[in-house]
Amino acid sequence: MEITKKIHLLKIDFSVQITPEKVLPRFVNSLIIFGDSITIIDSGVKDSYVAIYDYIEKHSRKISEIKTLIISHSHPDHIGSASRIKKDTGCKVIGHLNEKDWIENIDLQYKSRPVPGFYNLVEESVMLDSVLLGGEELTLDENVNAQIINTPGHSKGSFSILFKEDLVLFTADSLPVENDIPTYDNFKELKNTIQKIKLISNYKTLLSSWTEPLNNKTEILSLIEKGNQYLDRLDRAIKKYYVDKETTSLENCTKVIEALGLPLIFVVPLVDRAFRTHL
Ligand SMILES: [Zn+2]
Repeated sequence: MEITKKIHLLKIDFSVQITPEKVLPRFVNSLIIFGDSITIIDSGVKDSYVAIYDYIEKHSRKISEIKTLIISHSHPDHIGSASRIKKDTGCKVIGHLNEKDWIENIDLQYKSRPVPGFYNLVEESVMLDSVLLGGEELTLDENVNAQIINTPGHSKGSFSILFKEDLVLFTADSLPVENDIPTYDNFKELKNTIQKIKLISNYKTLLSSWTEPLNNKTEILSLIEKGNQYLDRLDRAIKKYYVDKETTSLENCTKVIEALGLPLIFVVPLVDRAFRTHL
């Protein structure tokens, strides 16, 4: 989908195998930036390179023109095809310092953050060629300057990208979406990030990994505020039900999910992990 002449968004459907019987349908958005060369932002899951390559070729461009792959954070649906794309094109892979260990060692990531069906989503680790700290302005092409804005909380090195000429803000997974599966790393940081993103005003279109493109300021603010209120509702339920903090069972997690009327498929160690960051 063409967002601006240069910035395109590709929605990639995939599914997460929660248990042998339960499958959670998901999607993730990758960005493809057509300049003199091609920049990819986020590589989707393991097989997403096929859809990315197809999209590029349908726009009469070549895979060999991919020079840069920026990874918004280390999670499997963002790095899934990274190693493949790097091998195929020799592109430079760029990620945040705070995500480097989990991008370069997916086994380490899986041990700390057990996404169900993890190895069905990500092919292999990938080495970063360049590391971001946040605050940089990257020139991706003529008239494509990308400001890197640290927006941690969903993960420790999550960042958003402001495309200054095209007036597009891409927040990746940095904003929680109301009633979606809670999978953040740090509740307090996420609350701060929501306020930080709310104050960014010099853009017209909001893109994220989990939402349709938004061009209307009222709709954008509503998305942000609903995510914020969702976190507050979760916080109240977590403070109420996580009384026995030591238990390793998912009993407390189940109570929170039920209290908010969320799907029981969300009761997984990954969500329990996010809830414990409220305590
Ligand atoms: Zn993520």
